[in-house]
Amino acid sequence: MNLRSRAGRAVIPAVLTLVVGASTAAATTRAQEPQYDLLIRQGHVIDPKNGIDAVRDIAVKDGKIAMVGERIDAQDAERTVDAKGDYVTPGLIDLHTHLFAGPEDAYSNGYQSVAPDGFTFRAGVTTAVDTGSSGASNFAEFKKNVIDRSKTRVLAFLNIVGKGMAGGDFEQDLNDMQAGPAAEVAMRNPDVIVGIKTAHYEGPEWDPVERSVEAGEKAGVPVMVDFGANRPERPLDQLLTEKLRPGDIYSHAYSGNRGELGEDGKLNPGMHAGRERGVLFDVGHGGGSFAWEVAVPAMKERFLPDTISTDLHITSMNSGMKDMANVMSKFLALGMPLKDVVAASTWRPAQAIGHEELGHLSVGAPADISVFTLEKGEFGFVDSFAFRIDGKEKLVCELTVRGGEVVWDLNGRTAQAWKPGSGRGDGAGEH
Ligand SMILES: [Zn+2]
Repeated sequence: MNLRSRAGRAVIPAVLTLVVGASTAAATTRAQEPQYDLLIRQGHVIDPKNGIDAVRDIAVKDGKIAMVGERIDAQDAERTVDAKGDYVTPGLIDLHTHLFAGPEDAYSNGYQSVAPDGFTFRAGVTTAVDTGSSGASNFAEFKKNVIDRSKTRVLAFLNIVGKGMAGGDFEQDLNDMQAGPAAEVAMRNPDVIVGIKTAHYEGPEWDPVERSVEAGEKAGVPVMVDFGANRPERPLDQLLTEKLRPGDIYSHAYSGNRGELGEDGKLNPGMHAGRERGVLFDVGHGGGSFAWEVAVPAMKERFLPDTISTDLHITSMNSGMKDMANVMSKFLALGMPLKDVVAASTWRPAQAIGHEELGHLSVGAPADISVFTLEKGEFGFVDSFAFRIDGKEKLVCELTVRGGEVVWDLNGRTAQAWKPGSGRGDGAGEH
C-alpha cells in the first residue's frame, strides 16, 4: 500500500467516531454533513500577510481555509482541535532545502539530500523549496522521483549547472552552466520551478552568477546565490550592489564565509547597500553557513533576515541546524520578535518566490496550517561552528495540516482516546 492511500484512510476513524481527545480536543458525529472538516480553536494566530496577531478560530473545508473568526461554533465542524495557549501560523515555507535524494554521492539524486516528508511536517513545514539540487538535465528525474511523490509541496530553484549539485568538478564546469537550457526547463515547469540557483563555485569568474541572472531574466524568476569560495576577484559588495537584481536572493547571509562581516566586527557595507537595492537575504543555515559570530552583530545593526530557512540536508539536520522550528527559535533567542520570525518563514518566502497564494490564512487559501507550542525553559542553540548560545524559548511543532489533512500530530490531539474495549478500529493504523 502506498503512503498516500494509507494516510488517506487514517483520517477516517476520527471522522466517523465520537472522539473525546486526551486534552480538551473533541470532535462530534453529526447526522447531516457538517459545515467544516476541521476547526482549530482559540489558538494565537499569527498571519503576517493579513495583519492578524490575536486569538482566533480557523475553519477548514475541502482543503481550503473556510473561515477565520473570533468564535466559530464547534458544532459546525467534524473535528475540533483546541489550540488554546498555542500559536497557529500559516504552514511554514522552507526556502532552502536539498530534497533530490537518490543513490549517487551528492545532493543531486544523492544520499546527501533527504526525502521531504520525513523531515518537513514534524517541524511545521508544508512547502519546501529545493535549492539547486537538480539542473536542466536531471530536473525531470527530480520531479518524477520526489516532487510528484511527496505530500510536502516541493518547489525548486534550478541549478545553473546542468547536472545540478552533483559535487566536485561537476559544479566547477563552466561548459555545463548554460542560461538557455536552464531558462527553457524553468519556463516549461512554471508551477514548480521558482528560480535559478548558483552554488559552490570556486573559480574567479563571474560567469556562474551572470549566467544565472541571464537565465532568471529569460524565465522571469529570481536567482538565489550560494557564493562559493571567497575570491578577491569577485567581491561580495560587487555581487550585492551590481550583479544581483532586486528580488534576487543572497543565501547563507550569516555565514561569514564570504566577508559578510568585516574585520571591524561590523557588517560589510555591501550587505546594507544590497538590501537598499531590494536584494533579499536568506538564512540557509546548513552545516557550515550560520555563525553566531556574524548573526549577533548583524542583529545589533538591525540586519534581520528577509527569509529564514534551513539548508536542510543529511548533515545539517543532525548538527546545529536540526529543523525549521529550531532555526526559528534561534532568531527568537537573538531577539527577533515572534511575529517577524513567522513572517520570515511564511509570507516573506511566499513573496520571494512569487507564490502569493501561499504563506497566509486568507479564506480560500490552501489549508496549510501549523500549530506550535512556545516552550519556556533553558535551551541551547548551536551554530554551524559548534558554538552555543542559550535561549529561554523554543518553538515545538504540535500539529501540521497540509491541504486540510492532518499530517503531523505530536501529542495525538486529533486521535481518539483509547480505553478498554475500544478495539483496533478498521485497521487504518496497519503498517
Ligand atoms: Zn544549500
